[in-house]
Amino acid sequence: KRLGIAVVGLGALALENIIPGFGETKHVRLTGLVSGDPAKARAIAAQYGVPEKNLYSYDTFDQISNNPDIDIVYIVLPNALHAEFTIRAAKAGKHVLCEKPMAATVAEAQSMVDACAQANRKLMIAYRLQYTPEHRTVIDLARSKTFGAIRMIEAVNGQNDAPNGQWRQIKALAGGGSLPDVGLYCLNAFRYITGEEPIEVTGQLTRPANDPRFREIEDISMFTLRFPSGVVANGTAGYSFHESRFLRVHAETGWFGLDPAFGYDNLTLGINRKAGMASSTDSRRFSPKSQFAHEMDAFAASLHANQEPRTPGAEGLQDMKIMAAIYQAAAGGGVVKLPPVDGLDTTR
Ligand code: NAD
Repeated sequence: KRLGIAVVGLGALALENIIPGFGETKHVRLTGLVSGDPAKARAIAAQYGVPEKNLYSYDTFDQISNNPDIDIVYIVLPNALHAEFTIRAAKAGKHVLCEKPMAATVAEAQSMVDACAQANRKLMIAYRLQYTPEHRTVIDLARSKTFGAIRMIEAVNGQNDAPNGQWRQIKALAGGGSLPDVGLYCLNAFRYITGEEPIEVTGQLTRPANDPRFREIEDISMFTLRFPSGVVANGTAGYSFHESRFLRVHAETGWFGLDPAFGYDNLTLGINRKAGMASSTDSRRFSPKSQFAHEMDAFAASLHANQEPRTPGAEGLQDMKIMAAIYQAAAGGGVVKLPPVDGLDTTR
């Protein structure tokens, strides 16, 4: 049986990417909508065949507990609302798929993990890229040591469209600027490629002077991670440079990576190796399939198997802790050390 998903929050990502992605899913279907705008919810429901009885507002949301059509709640709200709706969904007996970043603070993220554990519901953070064949291939090349040991990883994720007049500019709603919004993709990739947890971080932030969009949040975030094996990783995110989204893993006898690496489509794998005296580069594209379909079907598979998803709450919580350490480093903390992590499955 296909599991039913209710999408909470009908903003840009939900309408442009997630809801259309149901057209390619095999194990889930769209069965509910939660919105503050009843007219919008009714229009989307009519378009996608969601029954009127499965529409909720933020106020009536808790009644979802009585609705057997809905197995999973997918939270696509501003970051600071993720904790409240995750906790309410778990209390209503539903499994939770929550957009990234998991929350606006470490404490909120921890409360989400605790609430889902207490309610015996599964929590997955929507790290869509970990479910794509492109990023799985990069992980395989790294783990199989096809080009020897990894020495260094670099990644950039940024674009020239600073958030204008919306919640992403407000620290209390977003939790930060480019770091949790787009830098998180670099950070999460460094962890899933190495299969290790960082032991120390550094960070630097910049913001254009006198630009009201950056009163509360950073524009560019640059950070480094050092891993136990000695691998170092260097990530940069920003809102004020021409779109650039790449990931490159430098190993002893070759490099490999994706460019673009972090968008919704056209991810392209590049591999460069020694070929005699010279070097050669191959590139490859994979068949297009909605990343959101991959991700939602993967959650359904883990629920059917009663297994933790590949990207559980603990995965999001660890990223929240690392980002807090990066902010601490950027605020003058120098090199910030991180404690060892228990109970996190880094084999992913
Ligand atoms: P958006 O602003 O387009 O949509 C947010 C929705 O939340 C809107 O429908 C808005 O009406 C609603 N909302 C409810 N309460 C609100 C409040 N108090 N203030 C503001 N809006 C409120 O944002 P989005 O780009 O769709 O992002 C939503 C979430 O999805 C964020 O957590 C974001 O980080 C994440 N996201 C993930 C990806 C990805 O690739 N996985 C891409 C974009 C966004």
